[in-house]
Amino acid sequence: MGRGVKLFKILGIQISLDYTWFIVFGLVAWSLAQGYFPLTIPGLTTFTYIIVGTISAALLFICVLIHELSHSYTSNKLGIEVKEITLFIFGGVAKLTKEPDDPIKELKIAIAGPAASTALAATFWVLMRLVDAISIYPVLSAVFGYLSMINMVLVAFNIIPGFPLDGGRILRAIWWNKTGDLQKATHVASQVGKGFAALLIGFGFFQIFLGNFIGGLWMIFIGMFLQQAADSGYRQLLVNKTLERMKVGDAMTMNVIAIAGDSTLASVVEKYFFGYHFAGFPVVSDGQITGMLTLNNVRIIPQQEWNTTLVKDVMNKISPDAILRPEDSAMDALSRMINLDTGRVIVMDGGKIVGIITRRDIMKLMEFKADLGI
Ligand SMILES: [Zn+2]
Repeated sequence: MGRGVKLFKILGIQISLDYTWFIVFGLVAWSLAQGYFPLTIPGLTTFTYIIVGTISAALLFICVLIHELSHSYTSNKLGIEVKEITLFIFGGVAKLTKEPDDPIKELKIAIAGPAASTALAATFWVLMRLVDAISIYPVLSAVFGYLSMINMVLVAFNIIPGFPLDGGRILRAIWWNKTGDLQKATHVASQVGKGFAALLIGFGFFQIFLGNFIGGLWMIFIGMFLQQAADSGYRQLLVNKTLERMKVGDAMTMNVIAIAGDSTLASVVEKYFFGYHFAGFPVVSDGQITGMLTLNNVRIIPQQEWNTTLVKDVMNKISPDAILRPEDSAMDALSRMINLDTGRVIVMDGGKIVGIITRRDIMKLMEFKADLGI
């Protein structure tokens, strides 16, 4: 999901575009300029249709953004921070820093988007009616009419009860609330999502068979996207569950090699980086852990200065957040690493360093567990 273009920040949330979005933006603008607008308001020049089509596609983009922002705003208000929204083919994904911890929060967050889209649809409908009443700007009326309709389509699509769509999240929240079993609830909602996706793909092929090639292709395309999203949403949950059960103490690398803050880079490279093949070492001064030296710290210093540069002058200062206890969960460790933008955190027990845990350590243990079927 990382591929995309960063746009701007609203309410502290980074807005990004997935690359697929550009293709779809072009397709939407093109089909509006070629089909919808010439049919609704005939007799204008091709150039006008292209301009109106492009403006409408841009307004649609803003509507989708408002939909996503409503989810994010609600989420932030409920204490589940959203840092980034990525806009996709026909919607967006608000990246929650963690999953909602209770079904009522999930329900509120899920409903916020369709509620905003419904409000937008109603607003554009009223605007269309107002412009119609004055009846001097048929183009404006057609644009408002289109936006009203497309927002209703967004609502209709998003409330389909298949996870990870909003409707699927609502279904999951209700099921979760009733049974208290998040995993089962997610399974059910994602199965419904996959069922709907299969239906959409089948219907798409049927449309192609009837001669509606573009419409059919769209349905197949969206169906495949949904199927994949339902699958990965459920798998993500299973991974999260494993990570929550996994203890830092089980995944960490023990026998930590600490280096002294007043060693030179030259000696450390020779003795430690080459000697142990670790990419980072904790730094100790006067028996206290003061920082972490990674290959990246060394790399930015020119080699001729390694003999005169001390470890403590180039190391990353350690933040209290980068220290975990063995009984913390691997999930905690990962979220700390993401927040601190670091690859490793130190594990301490009773004032002593007992290990270091990296993303690789966690992945490795997950792989071992999967291989052993535990
Ligand atoms: Zn939504």
